[in-house]
Amino acid sequence: MRICRQCQCKMVEGLDVKVDSAGYGITIAAGTGIFANRIEKPKVAICPKCGEISLYIENIDKIPKKR
Ligand SMILES: [Zn+2]
Repeated sequence: MRICRQCQCKMVEGLDVKVDSAGYGITIAAGTGIFANRIEKPKVAICPKCGEISLYIENIDKIPKKR
C-alpha cells in the first residue's frame, strides 16, 4: 500500500505509464546506451484526493545492487 506524500491518504496503485501518441510507455534502465539492462516498466500510483502521482517498480529484485 502506498501513502500519498502530500496528504497521507491511500493511493490508487498499479496504473500503467503511457506516453501520448507513441504508446510505448517508458522504461527504467540501468546503465546507458542500447545495451543497457532494461529493468522493469514502472507502475504509477495516483492519490485520488490531491492528484499526486508516484512512480514505482514492482520487481525490485531486478535492480542491480550497488557495488
Ligand atoms: Zn494526496
